[in-house]
Amino acid sequence: MTDAIDATDTPTPRRKPKPEKTSIGGRELKPSTLMMGHGFDPVLSEGSLKPPIFLTSTFAFPSAADGKRHFEGITGQREGGAEGLVYSRFNAPNQEILEDRLAIWDGAEDALSFSSGMTAICILMLAYVSQGDVIVHSGPLYAASEGFVSKVLSKFGVSYIDFPAGATREELEDVLKRAKKQAGENGGKVAMIYLESPGNPTNALVDIEAVKEARDANLKWDCPIAIDNTFLGPLWQRPLDHGADIVAYSLTKYVGGHSDLVAGSIAGAKKWMDPVRALRNTMGGIVDPNTAWMLLRSLETVELRMQRAGENAAKVCAFLKAHPKVDGLGYLGMIEDARQQDIYDRHCLGAGSTFSVFIKGGEAECFRFLDNLTIAKLAVSLGGTETLASHPASMTHLSVPHARRQQLGISDSLVRISIGIEDPDDLIADFEQALEHV
Ligand SMILES: *Cc1c(COP(=O)(O)O)cnc(C)c1O
Repeated sequence: MTDAIDATDTPTPRRKPKPEKTSIGGRELKPSTLMMGHGFDPVLSEGSLKPPIFLTSTFAFPSAADGKRHFEGITGQREGGAEGLVYSRFNAPNQEILEDRLAIWDGAEDALSFSSGMTAICILMLAYVSQGDVIVHSGPLYAASEGFVSKVLSKFGVSYIDFPAGATREELEDVLKRAKKQAGENGGKVAMIYLESPGNPTNALVDIEAVKEARDANLKWDCPIAIDNTFLGPLWQRPLDHGADIVAYSLTKYVGGHSDLVAGSIAGAKKWMDPVRALRNTMGGIVDPNTAWMLLRSLETVELRMQRAGENAAKVCAFLKAHPKVDGLGYLGMIEDARQQDIYDRHCLGAGSTFSVFIKGGEAECFRFLDNLTIAKLAVSLGGTETLASHPASMTHLSVPHARRQQLGISDSLVRISIGIEDPDDLIADFEQALEHV
């Protein structure tokens, strides 16, 4: 495919031209436009309009000098990582195209893809912590994220301090001061501020701007603010615009969007991605080429799917709110708390399609409701084309101690619903008949 043999004169052929065009006559192209072709040049793949799936473990170097240069990049002896394709644990075409396109949605310089959301989150945290360090995190977190911090990292001398999602600037300052003291006693530093917003399943929002202000005022070293944006991203919340440094995703949810794959990602400035890339190179955990290809297909419709799901959720919630057997909703389109509304107005571009509904009664009433749904499937997860419903207190949050559940607002009367892209009136009819059985 190439005549290039002299690494100093002719670089290894790349899968894409650089720099790439992301604007026309000064007009910045929108993500929904760029999802169709960005990061892929058909000329490099026999004119194939769509990227082929590259099932290969390794890539042939045009010359030994090229191989050496790439390994200098991979091992960090030269800044900037590999300039070409090397070995599929480090990089490969489908994954690189996916990462280029993911970065666009969050306005990030760089992105990394992983085999699951949890792989992304675990490798991200591991890349930043050392013995004695403290992680400051919002609560509640996705149960596995919380478990990784409290049960796994703790084995290596890393401790944590958490704060409730809605904390104010003053409360955050206080938390950071305590964290600094704790880190000092342990011979470490505050290594990461890790957020999840909205929290699951309560939809409590974190004030990212206040977190950044508190961080800048209290921590004089590079302590990244990372945030799990799975519930509202990439369409309805852009945390990098509000002071977060790193955004993390379970792509399994809205981005994948069809409940047929498991994957994850992080995005942010290159300086924040580089340590994570280095650890991923060592440990593995990059997404596989087939899943990356499916995610490229998903990204072409992510805006359409999320818009429709969001509109559906607004209609369903308007119906549920007025229903006599419903005690309340945890829906970002109907916030009742002034501080939460203020955070929403500053940070969010849409209310999402995942919410909680409080059914009058307790577990028995919720179970009758769930067991009588016909369109909505009884399953955990969210963000797919189909509507799902679950009972967090007895499913996703069963392992959370009862007192902590109460504190987080996860009562026995809470049902979590993720609305899909079905016909909204069909969904309302389904919820209506299921509520009649309560
Ligand atoms: C699902 C989920 C995860 C974990 O992602 P996986 O892809 O299942 O590993 C992390 N955070 C949030 C908020 C999630 O919903």
